[in-house]
Amino acid sequence: MGTASAMPISDRNPSAQMLNANGRLFLIDCGEGTQQQMRRCHFSFVRVEAIFISHIHGDHLFGLFGLLNSMAMYGRVAPLDIYGPQALGSVLNFYSAFFGSDDNFEIRFHALSCKEPEVVHTSKCLTVSAFPLNHKIECYGFRFDETVTDRHAEANPEYKGKSYAYCSDTAPFPELPSWVKGVNVLYHEATYPREMADKAEHRFHSTSEQAARCALKAGAGKLIIGHYSSRITDFDALLEECRSVFPETVAASDGDSFEF
Ligand SMILES: [Zn+2]
Ligand SMILES: [Zn+2]
Repeated sequence: MGTASAMPISDRNPSAQMLNANGRLFLIDCGEGTQQQMRRCHFSFVRVEAIFISHIHGDHLFGLFGLLNSMAMYGRVAPLDIYGPQALGSVLNFYSAFFGSDDNFEIRFHALSCKEPEVVHTSKCLTVSAFPLNHKIECYGFRFDETVTDRHAEANPEYKGKSYAYCSDTAPFPELPSWVKGVNVLYHEATYPREMADKAEHRFHSTSEQAARCALKAGAGKLIIGHYSSRITDFDALLEECRSVFPETVAASDGDSFEF
C-alpha cells in the first residue's frame, strides 16, 4: 500500500503492506495514509488480526492513530495485537490517553526485543517471527510461515508451507540471508540505486543491488523491492540493477498485489 521512503511524493505512500492469509489480515507497518490505502484496496478495518511495526520512524507508523480511530468508529470489539519496539508502547499509551478512551476494543501491545529470529505471533494459519535489522534505530523484520496442516500433508507429504519476509529498513548484514532463507517471497527495501551506496551505508539503508544479493544468498523465490528514495526517477534502471543479480525481482508500486 506504500512504496515510498520518508519524503512525501505525489504518487507513492510511505511504507504499509497487508498480508492476506485465507482472509486473515496482517498489517505490516502503517505509514501516513494507510487507512485511505486500505479503503482503495478494499481491506476491512475490523478484520485486521495483528499489526507489526518495524521501527519508530514516522514513515512506518504515522498512519496508526488514524487507523485505530477508524477501527473504533467501525465498531471493532475484537482485541488487536500490535508488535513493535519497546518505544511503541509509549506512542500507543499517548493514543489511548488522548483519543482512545471510548474505544471498545483492547490494544494488546507486545514489545519486541529479540537478537535473532523468534516466534512472536501464532495464528490459525501461520506463525510470525521477528528478527532485528541493521538500521539507525532499533528495527525489526518479520517472517510469516504458513502452518502445514494435515490436509496439506495428505495432498502432498513434501509440502513445506508458503512463506513471506519483510525487511525494511536495513543496511546489509551477514546474518540476514540465513534468517530469511528459502522464503517464497522476500520484500527487501531498495532505498537507493547502486551509485548511491555511500549514502545508503551512512543512513543504514540498502541499494537495489544489496537487496538482490540478499535474495540470492537467501535462495528466495521472488524479490519485491520498495521504500524508494524520492530522488529515484528511473525505476527501470533500478530494477535492472536488481535483475542482473537476481532475475526474479519486481519493483513494487502502490496498490500492487501479489498472490503466492
Ligand atoms: Zn523508512
Ligand atoms: Zn527508518
